[in-house]
Parts: sequence; structure tokens; C-alpha cells
Amino acid sequence: MSTSAQIGVTGLAVMGRNLARNFARNGYTVAVHNRTATRTKALVEEFGSEGDFIGTETAEEFVAALERPRRLVIMVKAGEPTDAVIREFAPLLEPGDMIIDGGNAHFADTRRRERELRERGIHFVGTGVSGGEEGALHGPSIMPGGSKESYESLGPMLEKISAKAKDGAPCVTHCGPDGAGHFVKMVHNGIEYADMQLIGEAYQLLRDVAGYSPAQIADIFRTWNTGRLDSYLIEITAEVLSHVDAATGKPFVDVVVDQAEQKGTGRWTVQIALDLGVPVSGIAEAVFARSLSGHAALREASRDLAGPTASPLSESEAAAFADRVEQALYASKIVSYTQGFHEISAGSEEYGWDIDLGQVASIWRGGCIIRAAFLDRIRAAYDARAELPSLLSDETFAREIAEAQDDWREVIIAATRQGVPTPGFAAALAYYDALRAERLPAALTQGQRDFFGAHTYRRVDRDGTFHTLWGGDR
Ligand code: NAP
Repeated sequence: MSTSAQIGVTGLAVMGRNLARNFARNGYTVAVHNRTATRTKALVEEFGSEGDFIGTETAEEFVAALERPRRLVIMVKAGEPTDAVIREFAPLLEPGDMIIDGGNAHFADTRRRERELRERGIHFVGTGVSGGEEGALHGPSIMPGGSKESYESLGPMLEKISAKAKDGAPCVTHCGPDGAGHFVKMVHNGIEYADMQLIGEAYQLLRDVAGYSPAQIADIFRTWNTGRLDSYLIEITAEVLSHVDAATGKPFVDVVVDQAEQKGTGRWTVQIALDLGVPVSGIAEAVFARSLSGHAALREASRDLAGPTASPLSESEAAAFADRVEQALYASKIVSYTQGFHEISAGSEEYGWDIDLGQVASIWRGGCIIRAAFLDRIRAAYDARAELPSLLSDETFAREIAEAQDDWREVIIAATRQGVPTPGFAAALAYYDALRAERLPAALTQGQRDFFGAHTYRRVDRDGTFHTLWGGDR
């Protein structure tokens, strides 16, 4: 057993334990530590044979076990626990050492922590880690921020433990300084919310409008997964839909309470988008749809509200409808990614991060929850034109949406007619139509604002700002 470790992990719940094992399996000596020492002992006992671990009990022992400059990964509950751990370890570190926070931190906290630690010469590397516990063990998608210097030291290790895309490229890149990594991870999760909502809407349409059973819908998703929608989320959706509850023999999806929970990263994505003035309507609808689902009393009180009488499609109509839903799902997905990448680009500009959007698409191709064949195409779009104003400006995506749009509209019409809520599909289409519009009613909004508040307006035919002296008593 070695006496000094190349990396240390503190916080050995599911994520930290698996990340530590991943480093060890890749040949690194890993010092491990947890507030409650039993977790550390359990890890070494259970998985000690997988690689070289140095189990430590106190913060001092942990820090002493690390080679210099020290690389210390924190994998604890995000928020105050992360600050508590930093307060405990930072005084034991020296200039040049690195603290890597792999938790789901808010990027503003990461910026603050990075600034405070930089004053003490310590590199703070806020790092997004996606892929859940399986990803942490077998190769996650990793989104580090922090200084370039820290990436020079950490990059090769992270590349080794990360997922690899189909072309072999490691799913890790230095996203940019300070909070850039956690910002990218936040938007990743926001896009994940939107993807899941759109898939949910497709499922409900196939069930309520086309009349398919969960098992039949699972087969449809399996077919979709062989085409342009090929992705982890579509794959697991088919698994969930074909799962039968052992206790009742019913489809599993029918015995689960239909109230979706959330941990906060989707909400952050929307809150920050509002601050940055970026329209992420698809992600917002996904967050709202989860919160609406959780309002059980409100839903109960609203069950008797009037709606249309649904008339399910005939068998022959259903198959054609399923093809249309695929088009609507794909077009809406393009829009969600367009909005998510817009937010990353706006964040990058606001905070001076210089994030490479093509690289972001590239590192999301493996290891993470939104991994999808589709991301190869996004990467290619940004590689072809780094300054692409929007994904919809890419010729291929624009053409695909043009081909999908009739079906997309038909699906939303059918959903509206039959009273099936499709906020994600509809928000995506509204965004698309608003971007294409020659004129928006924003001109009228400006007129109203000038009328009641003298807020002024700009004209299409002259430079400057104008105010009209509106008549009448007010
Ligand atoms: P978790 O349940 O979020 O956190 C439990 C860990 O935090 C335990 O090791 C616990 O130590 C430690 N901890 C809590 N409060 C502490 C404090 N005040 N001081 C020191 N240690 C403290 O664990 P997790 O699910 O493995 O997630 C770890 C991090 O990864 C989180 O930030 C999470 O958001 C992020 N993440 C999770 C996933 C996932 O799929 N679970 C995916 C990506 C990212 P004790 O054992 O002593 O209680």
C-alpha cells in the first residue's frame, strides 16, 4: 500500500464512494474520508481489493495522506455542508493545493468559494458531475471550472476516470474559470428536466389520444431509440414503461403516484435565465409541470372542471399519429437544447467564462443523463460555426424542424382538441414561431408602456427614443 495518495475524496455517500472507487480502479492511490468514520471503514473493507485506498479518520490524517500539491475532492451534500467541509480543511492546506467540489453547488456559491480560497492561494475547482451513482463508478460526464492551472494538474486524472464518447473522446473539458463548470452542470440538469417533460407528453399523447398501452408505448420508444432520438432517457423510458408491478400485475407506471419531485437545479436554471433575460420557456414549463403535479389538493378540487370529450383514434390513425408525435418530440427537443445553449452562452458572456459550446455538447455525449446521439450533431453545428447565434440557425436543424413542423402543429392541435396538456411541446412551438415572426406584438406592449408610464419607445423609421403625448384625462 502506498503512503501518499494522488487524490483524496471526502464525503463517501453513494457519489463519493463510487467516485473514489473509480479513481482507484484507474490506478490512482486514493485517500478516503467521511465525517462519520464508519462509512470510510466500510468502503475500505468492501472495496479495498479494487485498488489502493488509504482510509483516514481525521481531517489532519486525510490531508497528511495527500501528495503535494494536494487534490482533495469534496462529495458532500450541497450548500452549508460544503462550506462546513471547506472551513474544516482549508486551514490545513497550502498555496497551490486544490479543492474540487463535485457536489451540485449553485454556481454563485462556487464563485464566492473560489474567490475566498484564491486569496489564500488555494485553487477551488467547482465541478459538475453527471451520471448518478453508476456514472460516478463507471465514468461520469465531468464539468470542471476553476483555474487553468488547476486543470493542467487535474485534467489528465479526470480524463482517465470520465466516460468516453463513442469516438473515444473523454467526456470532460475545462468549462471555464470559477463557477463555469457548475453553471454548465446546472443547465445540463435544466435540459434534462425539459427532455423528461417532453418524453412524458409524448407518452401521454400515445396513451390518451392514440390509445396505446404502456407496453405498446415501450415498444414505440424502443423503435424511436434506434433513430435520431437515440438517447439514454428514451432507452430507460422504454424500460420503465414495460415494467410490471409484481404486487398487482399492473403496469408499474400506473401504480406510481403522479407527483414529480425535484431537487432544485431545474428551478435554478430558470431563475438564472430570468436574471440573464434568456427565454428558456421549455425548461420553465418542465419545472412548472412538476410543481403543478405536486399540488394534489388543487388538482383534486379541479377534477370536475369542464373539458372536451376525448375520442381516441382508430388503430390505423394511431400508427400515423405516433409518427407525428416523434416529429413533435424531436422538434421540441431541438428547441429545448437551443434554449439551454443560449443560457450557457449568455452566462459565459455575463461572467467572462469563454465557454466552448461545441465542447459542452461533446462532453455530454457520454456518462450523463442527457447523453444522446443528437449531441454529436450539436457539436458538429458549433464546430462548423463557433459563433452560431442559435442552434436553429444551423442549416441541418433548421431543415429538420421545417420538415417536422406540420406534424408538430397537428400533434398540438390534437392535444388541445382532446384536452391533453402539452406545455412543453406548445412552449417550444411558440418559441419557434416567435423567433420566425416578422413582427411581434412587443410593438403594442411598448405603446401601452408609453401610454401609462411614459416609458418611451423606439421607431422603425428613425433613430432615438420617443414619447407620445397621449390625449384625454388620466
Ligand atoms: P448526499 O446524500 O447528498 O450527502 C451525504 C454526504 O454528505 C455524506 O457523506 C455525509 O456525511 C456528508 N455530509 C452531510 N453534511 C455534512 C457536514 N455538515 N459535514 C461533513 N459532511 C457532511 O450524498 P450523494 O447523493 O452521494 O451526493 C453527494 C453530492 O453529489 C451532492 O452534492 C449531490 O448533489 C451531488 N450529486 C449527486 C448525484 C446523485 O445521483 N446522487 C448526482 C450528481 C451529483 P455523513 O456520512 O457523516 O452523514
